[in-house]
Amino acid sequence: MSRRGLTFLVGNILWYDLAMISLETPLVELYGVGDKVGQKLQTLGLHTVYDLLYYYPRRYEDFSEPRRLDQVTLGEHQIVKGKITEIKNDLSSRQRMKLTRAIISDETGQLALLWFNQPFLIRLLRPGTVWLFAGKVERDLADKVAMVAPVIEREGKIIPIYGETAGLSSKIIRKLLFQLKHLIVHIEDWLPESIRSQYELVSLADALTLIHYPESIDQIGQAKRRLAFDELFLLVLGIQTARQELATTRAPRCQQPIELIKTLIASLPFILTDSQRLSCWQIVKDLAKNQPMNRLLEGDVGSGKTVVGALAAAIVIKSGYQAVWLAPTEILANQHYRTCSQFLTAFGIKIGLLTGSTSAKLQGEINNYGLIIGTQALIQEKVKFDRLGLIIVDEQHRFGVSQRAKLVKKEGLVPHFLSMTATPIPRTLALTLYGDLDISQLHTLPTGRKPVITRFVDPGHRSEAYEFIRKQVKSGRQVYVVCPLVAMASLPLVAQSSTGRAGDQLTLDLDDKRAAVATYEKLKDQIFPDFRVGLIHGKLKPKEKEAVMAAFTEGKLDILVATAVIEVGIDIPNATVMMIEGAERFGLAQLHQFRGRVGRSEHQSYCLVFTDSSTSTVFDRLRAFANTISGFEIAELDLKLRGPGQLLGLEQSGLGKLKIASISDIATIQWVKQAAMTVMNDGLERYPILKARLAYDRRSQHLD
Ligand code: ADP
Ligand code: MG
Repeated sequence: MSRRGLTFLVGNILWYDLAMISLETPLVELYGVGDKVGQKLQTLGLHTVYDLLYYYPRRYEDFSEPRRLDQVTLGEHQIVKGKITEIKNDLSSRQRMKLTRAIISDETGQLALLWFNQPFLIRLLRPGTVWLFAGKVERDLADKVAMVAPVIEREGKIIPIYGETAGLSSKIIRKLLFQLKHLIVHIEDWLPESIRSQYELVSLADALTLIHYPESIDQIGQAKRRLAFDELFLLVLGIQTARQELATTRAPRCQQPIELIKTLIASLPFILTDSQRLSCWQIVKDLAKNQPMNRLLEGDVGSGKTVVGALAAAIVIKSGYQAVWLAPTEILANQHYRTCSQFLTAFGIKIGLLTGSTSAKLQGEINNYGLIIGTQALIQEKVKFDRLGLIIVDEQHRFGVSQRAKLVKKEGLVPHFLSMTATPIPRTLALTLYGDLDISQLHTLPTGRKPVITRFVDPGHRSEAYEFIRKQVKSGRQVYVVCPLVAMASLPLVAQSSTGRAGDQLTLDLDDKRAAVATYEKLKDQIFPDFRVGLIHGKLKPKEKEAVMAAFTEGKLDILVATAVIEVGIDIPNATVMMIEGAERFGLAQLHQFRGRVGRSEHQSYCLVFTDSSTSTVFDRLRAFANTISGFEIAELDLKLRGPGQLLGLEQSGLGKLKIASISDIATIQWVKQAAMTVMNDGLERYPILKARLAYDRRSQHLD
């Protein structure tokens, strides 16, 4: 069908449109969008009409209910209405800025207004005319109370405010959306009428209209309710259809090599915990089925997930298939390679490491290996396996049929899948969102581990902390120092040039504790000149990172200064101190991940938390972190304090995509589950538009 026809087939959503605009029309084709605006829109992730329609307002400015001037409060953002009684242009005391000052009045009082560098306002705001203003009332430059840089409106309507970017204001976004207003009514609703009426939801066209052009606050609520329902409904339905699809496929059936498993377990340098044994057993049983395993292995940091994965790989390989282990970073791929070699080589299993540098050589001979370990990006892009039986991935909660198919040469058997996660998802959600996954849990840490002692260190006690670190290093232990930044953002990032050395420009902020480069210089030269200090951050080249990590692993460095690259998965049991600078910059779950880098041996370990912030929220949060050792409780707390967006691993669960729904909205989740059940029972075939909508989502989200 031609794109310029009367009917447009858009991801199978029909849109009858006289203006020849469809949901997939690039925004640059809209009136008033040139290259410049087009680019700005792209930085907001907005490419098509569809994207723009689903770009919801951040908040609304309600000009329908202005405040009386005698009720204006200092320090608050508010809306007022008044008649211009006076207006004049001025220069600031140092003549740097043009100021426009005005006075407005109503029956109850007066208010001063102030704008910067907008002298033309004087022609618009004529004395005697009445306007609405929205802004914060503050003490102005001359220490007088005024509303500073208010937004001006003529009518008392509700104005949506969108997330902006430099050079692209909310106003431009509103103008663009206004062009689309008369088209929205043509969007076909994919939610079946029966479900809509059962849950009293407005139509899709109404919802999109009301969210962007509301006439009352109540209407916004109705729109949000429908759109939130949509998000969760599509998520749940996507998961259910993926489950159904997987159930129709066949997987390589593996043996249950009991003897091998026993010898392998006996050969380990430690005794498996009960929950490790149980998880292994669950996996053994899954692998023996001819249906693909879809299993999530949940366990707190340091609980020993890697060995469980290695065991699963061994079983698959001994049954004549291959296993692939996809790591998020090269550092971790290297580490898994070392660990698995240690566990499996004695059993005649050939292990290959696929990284940027080994890639070319290994690809040709990929099928000579039993287990291939590499970064996710590299393998998914380049490698096809002949006999793939198992895919292991960190923190990637779903891996659908089509994703699995990309890794195998011939269509046919679908590999088993095992994901490992340190992110516990709250129970209420797990059932809904992991309905398609079987879950194994490692409840306990290996025996003999001492809980990490967490200390919140007052800035005044910094030197004592250094002394403590000195003692630990002297007794043979190693130390991490984590900083939130690589270097100070305002400075040219000289330190990240290929030489890897900090440049002169950094001397200015040499003392800034938040920057890894500066901290490294200071520790190396001033605090611990007698120790071996290393530096690692994301801007280093893979080779450089590898070298630093190898040096630390082999004990050739005493102290490793790092950014968040160190966060997930690194396992160096001899490290016993984790010092965190600028801790207020990290979420609780992330702090917990850092802390999980130590406490991995029988040595007592410590987490030293530093912050320069003195606000009570930061204190409360960090104190809660110090007092909680369970990752599960930390996740719950983080969810409560910072909302779902910050939960680690949430992106992978599909929850990170939620824009308007809240995962704590249990009521809606219940409805959604019922509605999804109805649809699945009826069969998706009976809902063609819904089916098309789901396929559209899948194409863009890889949810399958
Ligand atoms: P995570 O679950 O965080 O991925 P790892 O698999 O990296 O944890 O294991 C953490 C450390 O504990 C590793 O050094 C590993 O060799 C060790 N380990 C794993 N299982 C046990 C066990 N049962 N007893 C003692 N040490 C163990
Ligand atoms: Mg791990």
